[in-house]
Amino acid sequence: MAASRKLPLFRLPPLPTVGELIKLYNLRAEKQLSQNFLLDLKLTDKIVRQAGSLRDAYVCEVGPGPGGLTRSILNAGAADLLVVEKDTRFIPGLKLLSEAAPGKLRIVHGDILTYRTDRGFPQSISKPWEGDPPNLHIIGNLPFSVSTPLIIKWLENIANRTGPFVYGRTRLTLTFQEEVAERLTASTSSRQRSRLSVMAQYLCTVRSRFTIPGRAFVPKPKVDVGVVHFTPLVQPQIEQPFKMVEKVVKNVFQFRRKHCYRGVEMLFPEACRVDLTQEMLQRADVDPTLRPTELTIPHFRALVDAYAHLCATDPSLFHYDFRDELRAKHVSRKTDSPADTFMDT
Ligand code: SAM
Repeated sequence: MAASRKLPLFRLPPLPTVGELIKLYNLRAEKQLSQNFLLDLKLTDKIVRQAGSLRDAYVCEVGPGPGGLTRSILNAGAADLLVVEKDTRFIPGLKLLSEAAPGKLRIVHGDILTYRTDRGFPQSISKPWEGDPPNLHIIGNLPFSVSTPLIIKWLENIANRTGPFVYGRTRLTLTFQEEVAERLTASTSSRQRSRLSVMAQYLCTVRSRFTIPGRAFVPKPKVDVGVVHFTPLVQPQIEQPFKMVEKVVKNVFQFRRKHCYRGVEMLFPEACRVDLTQEMLQRADVDPTLRPTELTIPHFRALVDAYAHLCATDPSLFHYDFRDELRAKHVSRKTDSPADTFMDT
């Protein structure tokens, strides 16, 4: 029988270990940049396997640091790996890796929160949104300090098909502190169900993959870390603008232990609060005595659709923020108060 003619996967040549590189370049972890390194390549290989096959893939890695995960991505067969790192101290070590993997590793010194991922890869890798995901992956052992703002930004990008999602339904394999990972994947009625669960799950299939014990990191963080995989849905489960979904979900979770109507109320100015809350809940056919955590994504879809209908009738509603009304009340109470007037004089 003819031998298989499959080309062997790329393997990095022998290099100093990640630990040795850290010593060589004196890379003390900076707390401010949430630096917790993974030195065990078996573990970084395991994270990378959660992304699926990376053969000939395009990959964006967030925060490569000393490059453990970077090595695993290269060894998994990625053709083009773009790494975005904020801390200049890691650049020389990454350059060493880049020399060991000619033409495969591009290094960007920058902030992932502002980096234009939509310009990082050739347009030719794009796939239609309705088709299979492109062969582009985002992978990262995220810095804790940016993980929540970053995932919210990417969820908004998914809704608008911008950023890394101009190429199609780019998949994400990311780490989060365990509590955040649990919130992202929490199902209806579970203890961790929150705003983040609804925002992530109306746009993506979100899967918790495995937990990395804190002791696996150097330095050891106070918490364990969860690896979460996201695949954007072809059809979002709520078809209204991201900002509108975000506003309704945020308000509903305002009082997570109370009946959901209490949060819905906060969407409306005091003068019409009772009537519009009733109208919205009736239109959505949602039981006002359910708790926010008991609401399913279809419940949220009905609520956001009902809110969108009310906003179409009165566009000023969308700009209403109960905090502004509270603040204004507080100020007028202060100026009306004789005691305060006395204090001021
Ligand atoms: N990937 C490495 C590993 O697994 O060992 C390092 C992970 S460490 C948790 C997070 C990395 O993200 C650090 O290298 C840190 O400098 C970098 N970082 C922090 N904030 C960043 C930002 N806004 N943009 C890009 N990189 C950032």
